[in-house]
Amino acid sequence: MTDVLSLVPEGRHGLLTHLGSDGHPGSGGDESLAQYLAVGGYAPVPAPDRLLGRIDEAGLRGRGGAGFPAAVKLRSVRDAPGPPVVVANGEEGEPGSVKDRWLLRHRPHLVLDGLRLAAAVTGAGRACVYLSDAPAEYAVRQALAEQPQDLPVDVVRTTPSYVAGEETAVVRRIDGGPALPTAKPPRPFERGVGGAPTLVANVETLARIAVLHSWPGAAHTVVGAHLVTLAGPGGRAALVEAPAGTGLGALAESCGHGAAGAVLLGGMFGGLYGAGWAALPLDQDRLAAAGGALGCGAMYFPHPDECPVSVAAEATAYLAAQSARQCGVCVSGTGALAGALTALALGKAEADTSDRLERWSQQLVGRGACGLLDAAARIAGSLLTHFPGLVAGHRGTDCPGCGDAATGDGRRLTVAVP
Ligand code: SF4
Repeated sequence: MTDVLSLVPEGRHGLLTHLGSDGHPGSGGDESLAQYLAVGGYAPVPAPDRLLGRIDEAGLRGRGGAGFPAAVKLRSVRDAPGPPVVVANGEEGEPGSVKDRWLLRHRPHLVLDGLRLAAAVTGAGRACVYLSDAPAEYAVRQALAEQPQDLPVDVVRTTPSYVAGEETAVVRRIDGGPALPTAKPPRPFERGVGGAPTLVANVETLARIAVLHSWPGAAHTVVGAHLVTLAGPGGRAALVEAPAGTGLGALAESCGHGAAGAVLLGGMFGGLYGAGWAALPLDQDRLAAAGGALGCGAMYFPHPDECPVSVAAEATAYLAAQSARQCGVCVSGTGALAGALTALALGKAEADTSDRLERWSQQLVGRGACGLLDAAARIAGSLLTHFPGLVAGHRGTDCPGCGDAATGDGRRLTVAVP
C-alpha cells in the first residue's frame, strides 16, 4: 500500500499541508486555483533581492540530490550575462522516489508559484516545466490554463530514465536533443537552454521557495523538512514529510520497516548502510559525514530475510542497464561492478572479487559525466564497508537471502506514485 502522511508536528506546518491542501490523495488533496489563492498563494512578488536574501537566510538547499545552496544557485544565474531561463525539473530518475511527481500531480500551483518567484529573482523571461510523467503533465497544463503566468512557460516532456533529470541532460532535451548528460563545464548557469544562463531547479526546491515566500514565519519548518519516499518489502511504501534531524529509525518504524537490518540511501545514490542505520539523522551533512548521501530522499529498507548483497547486485545491475553509454569508463565500470556483485550474490565470486570491488569502488568515483557511475561505486564500497563478514561468507556458497539475485529491471526498488 502506498500513501502520504505527514510527520510534521500536528500535521499543519509542512509543505504537504501548506497553502490549501491536506496532502492526502483521494481526499480532496489536489489543489485548485481557488484553494491556493484563498490561503495566500501567488502573493505579490517582493523586490527580488529581498526574496533572495530570505532564501539565503533560511539556508534552503536544493532537493534534487546534490543539496547545493539554493540562494547561491539563484545568484549565479542572475549574475551571468544574458537573459536567463528557469526550469522546474520534475524528472526524478530514481525509481524509488515519488516526491517530485507527487508534487506536480497534486500541488502544481505550488510548484508554478515557486517557478514564478525563481524567475523574478533571476530576471528570467522564459520558464519551462520539464517532466516525463503523463498525469503530472496533465495537472501542470490544467494549472497553467487556470492561472496564466506573466512569463511564458513551456512544458517539455521527456522519456523517463535514470539520467534524464541530470541538469545538462535537461538542457539538452529542452533544446531538442536527447536527454543525456554532457561534459561539464559549462554548467547550465553558464550556458544552458538556447545558450542562456539557466536555472535547473528541482520542483521540491521551488515548492519550498513558494512556501517560504507566502509563509515567512515558517522558514525553519520550510528549510528543515524533507519529503522522503520510504519503501521495502517489510512494510508500507509511503511519501513522508519529516523535519530535518528525524532519526531514520523513527521514519522506518512509522511505515513498518523498523526490523530492517540495512537501508539503501538516496534512491541508489547514497549507498547501503548496515548496523547503526536507525540512529542516523535525516540530515544532508550528517549523512554525508557518515559516508552516505541523502540524495533525493528515497530510502529502501530490505526485508530482514533479504540479503544486502542481492540488493547491491540488483541496484548496480539496474544502473548498468540505465547507463547512457556515452563514457567508456561508465560502460565498462558500471557493468564490471554489477557483474562482480551479481557473481557474489550467486555464489560464483572468484578469490579476488572483493579486492576488485574495493579497487573499483575507489577508482571509478568522479570519472563519468554524471553521477550514475558514482552511485554504482558507492553501493559496492558501502557493501564492503558495512557488511564485510557477509561478503566474505558469499564466496562459493549459495545464499538463501539472495535468491535469484539481480534482474536489473529495478522493479523491487520501484515505488508507485500515490
Ligand atoms: S557516467 Fe554513464 S550514465 Fe553518466 S553520462 Fe557517462 S555514460 Fe552516461
